Amino acid sequence: MPETPADVPVLIAGRWETLAADRHTSVFNPSTGHAIAQTPLGDTGLVDRAVAAAKAALPAWSETPAVERARVMFAYRQLVETHFDELAALVTREHGKTLAEARAEVQRGLEMVEFATSVPTMLMGQTFPQIANSVDGETNRHPVGVCVGITPYNFPNMVPLWMYPIAIACGNTFVLKPSEKVPLSAVRLAELLVEAGLPEGVFNLVHGDKAVVDALITHDDVNAISFVGSTAIAKYVYETGCAHGKRVQAAGGAKNHLIIMPDADLDQSVKALAASAYGCAGQRCMAGSVALAVGSVGDALVENLVDYAGSINAAPSDGNETAGMGPVISAEHKDRVASAIATAETEGADVALDGRGVESGDSFLLGPSVIDRVTTDMSAWKNEIFGPVLSVVRADTLDDALAIGKACPYGNGASIFTRSGYAARQFKRHFNAGMIGINVGVPAPMAWLPFTGWNQSFFGDLHIQGTEGVHFYTRQKMTLTRWFESAEESHADPVWKTK
Ligand code: NAD
Repeated sequence: MPETPADVPVLIAGRWETLAADRHTSVFNPSTGHAIAQTPLGDTGLVDRAVAAAKAALPAWSETPAVERARVMFAYRQLVETHFDELAALVTREHGKTLAEARAEVQRGLEMVEFATSVPTMLMGQTFPQIANSVDGETNRHPVGVCVGITPYNFPNMVPLWMYPIAIACGNTFVLKPSEKVPLSAVRLAELLVEAGLPEGVFNLVHGDKAVVDALITHDDVNAISFVGSTAIAKYVYETGCAHGKRVQAAGGAKNHLIIMPDADLDQSVKALAASAYGCAGQRCMAGSVALAVGSVGDALVENLVDYAGSINAAPSDGNETAGMGPVISAEHKDRVASAIATAETEGADVALDGRGVESGDSFLLGPSVIDRVTTDMSAWKNEIFGPVLSVVRADTLDDALAIGKACPYGNGASIFTRSGYAARQFKRHFNAGMIGINVGVPAPMAWLPFTGWNQSFFGDLHIQGTEGVHFYTRQKMTLTRWFESAEESHADPVWKTK
């Protein structure tokens, strides 16, 4: 009989616990199709305990000097680096992306911790001496309080690290609810955080689904919410959190367009497009999912794409360094992606490369697909497929391509491939998305720059990462100071005289 997979623990007030939950969901290894752990789905009682622990830890932690808080992040950074390969292997095991992709993810996460070590400098305020007669002005940044992070399945390591290192370094306390599909990376990251010397209760980890999310985003003692996931849930979390008086940043889904101009270096562009569309099996919010072929480039582009994508070694990735693309997250998701390809066919598109037939065994593997002659009335253009599928839309001119971008309700990333500075400039200024690439397949910023999604790809004002991340996790206070000259200072004793 196969062993029953172990329950994933929660961390409350510095103690690891196995929850006595009524409901569980399985964590799968997408390379084998086997369940490797059970995620307990918590309830409001769990949320109450986690938020109470975070609230209790807040006074001491927020008063801890920022340089001491940063020192914990320095220790954490060292531990994440020491355990780098183990963390990457865990991402591959529970998510399915290749080891090289998992390493890249952990590297991006590590950079967030590096960024958090520099937070003390970013907390320094501004001063304006003599802003009025005998009055000095200054600003300071204060923590917002108890912060919550709710994360998606597609970056089990990096997206949690987008949130809590900055929040904690800014003096807040934190409750993380990772995706119930990939909780193992979050558990290992939390163990390392405890080892780094973080005081009990500053960081707490809970597991669950909608019930836990709802309890977190409406809890009286929660002050700020960071969410990353699909658009429908991002909008719901934003609206519900705001209605309950919280500060919310909520990043949603995407449909990222890659424009290929007729003057582009076709070879380089095809490689960049394939890396963008099929990296992490297309399960990235910055994945290029629509190629906009402008003018005469369409046929050559599709021919080269089909050749190149067809040569990618799609294979189970766990323990297999030769896999060029891994499986998707679940059997259900594999079916969803396959049915999106079928719908495109029914709606009149041309499946130029079909990944549905790939030999997958028990894994959740799909091969790369190219769908040609997609138009903007088809669901392949309208909906986020979130799998290894690139749709090709033909456009006559750059203006037509910009208009297609404008009609897209999302607005995460977009790239252009061209040798023309003029075309690149027009695109940079006018494309309707918040993250722009010029001859770059995945224009995803690193820790020091904000992740500036637009439209239905982001709800809120202050984005994740960079200075905006620090601003999200802090409140500004402005102080005006005036000291009155006393009779003693102005008349009696000459020791007080300054002029
Ligand atoms: P998801 O929206 O299904 O889940 C995200 C989180 O929300 C999980 O923790 C989940 O437990 C919770 N959740 C799910 N349903 C809920 C509900 N009904 N009520 C309350 N909470 C709920 O997203 P996913 O499938 O895990 O992740 C993929 C999505 O995330 C894609 O749409 C992708 O584009 C998006 N994403 C966006 C970014 C970005 O920066 N914009 C980054 C990564 C992923």
